Amino acid sequence: MDIAIIGGGASGLAAALAARESLANAVTVYERQNRVGRKLLATGNGRCNLTNRGASPENYHGQDPAFAGPALYRFGPEKTLEWFRSLGLVTRTEPSGRVYPLSDTAGSVVDVLRLALEARGGSIQCGAPIARAEKRGDAFLLTGPLGEQFTCERLIVACGGAAGARVGGVRSGYDILRSFGHGCTQLRPSLVQLKTDNTWTRAMKGVRTQAAVVLERGGQTLASASGEVQFTDYGLTGPAVYDISRAASLQQEGATVCLRLLPELEKVDIIQYMENKRNSFPDHKAENLLSGVLHNSIARTVLRRTQIPLEARLWALSDAALDQIADTLERFEFPLMGTLGFEDAQVTSGGTDTAGFDPETLESRLVPGLYACGEVLDVDGDCGGYNLQWAWSSGRLAGLAAGGLLEELA
Ligand SMILES: Cc1cc2nc3c(=O)[nH]c(=O)nc-3n(C[C@H](O)[C@H](O)[C@H](O)COP(=O)(O)OP(=O)(O)OC[C@H]3O[C@@H](n4cnc5c(N)ncnc54)[C@H](O)[C@@H]3O)c2cc1C
Repeated sequence: MDIAIIGGGASGLAAALAARESLANAVTVYERQNRVGRKLLATGNGRCNLTNRGASPENYHGQDPAFAGPALYRFGPEKTLEWFRSLGLVTRTEPSGRVYPLSDTAGSVVDVLRLALEARGGSIQCGAPIARAEKRGDAFLLTGPLGEQFTCERLIVACGGAAGARVGGVRSGYDILRSFGHGCTQLRPSLVQLKTDNTWTRAMKGVRTQAAVVLERGGQTLASASGEVQFTDYGLTGPAVYDISRAASLQQEGATVCLRLLPELEKVDIIQYMENKRNSFPDHKAENLLSGVLHNSIARTVLRRTQIPLEARLWALSDAALDQIADTLERFEFPLMGTLGFEDAQVTSGGTDTAGFDPETLESRLVPGLYACGEVLDVDGDCGGYNLQWAWSSGRLAGLAAGGLLEELA
């Protein structure tokens, strides 16, 4: 089989390697950038969080959340790690389940994929943006920007999504699939920083803390997460904020982000801590009240928010004042203004409508011989290695199916 893959990113390289498991398949990867895996190099802050050992279909979203199931069941995290080991990549798992290359550099992941594909005789064409694709009889005709033409018998679209525009996120995959009649759902940035009222975040800019984060509207919880939060001059970022960003991207109107700043302590414990401090150090200033449990900048901002003068002496703080401070720590509200855009987002929520594809093969239901994998499809995962796992799982499934290898090798 003569197979062309548009896109030399995570899913495209996985598809190419899978299809080439039979040397009877000729495989060509067309990549618009001057090297493959450019976005992969930027993942995990350059460390590449390549999967999460806990990945399961519940970690994925889209109009049909069940769509990702068959690919993930066939080729989940353990099989993926076995596969990477066979390519020569040694990995390390963090207690959270996140997996990174032992080298701690994303370059190792790109290198093992690229070198394995070259060794297996796959062809990689870089600087080769595909502008158009169409079906002519039983074959596909691909056209480059200068009118260059390539043909293939099976076509895999692995162009990725709109997110991460700075490292090559583009919309061309949606357009190519649209030209074959496939619909596209609304695209939104996900795993992205939140813009909030910045009156208080600015004062704590750059500070990181552990917090419980809840996205609420009208008393209803839209999403919640726990973990690290970082304050910025425009709002909030950090892993726990990314975890609620999909919901924030969908429902911004009238929503509020509430932080519980001492998530490991109950309100009574917080009050007890402050009373002890007041008893032991009555002449200390209020600005030192929380210095043993919180970053100074956060402690001062909590007091300002509660309208407690920083210069006040602890003996002068009433029980009611301590109660109010505890309430602010339990629930510091930041009205949501929106999210940053696709340039800053890690993943696209929405994409090519999965109803047009068979989840067991990732083949188009409209155009036989056409396949799609990775982020171009309407599947997005949580923060923590889940999106790359979808890229590996779906890429491998599309590659095996296009190469006629599903039964033999899966
Ligand atoms: C900054 C950042 C950090 C991230 N960190 C993580 C992480 O640590 N863990 C995780 O799981 N996920 C992470 N992600 C998400 C993850 O990188 C993507 O979900 C994943 O790369 C998607 O794989 P893909 O193959 O669908 O697309 P991509 O990896 O984006 O590959 C698509 C490729 O297609 C090429 N292409 C597009 N159009 C054409 C065309 N017309 N012709 C030829 N080539 C074309 C592109 O140049 C690109 O190389 C991160 C994303 C970003 C932006």
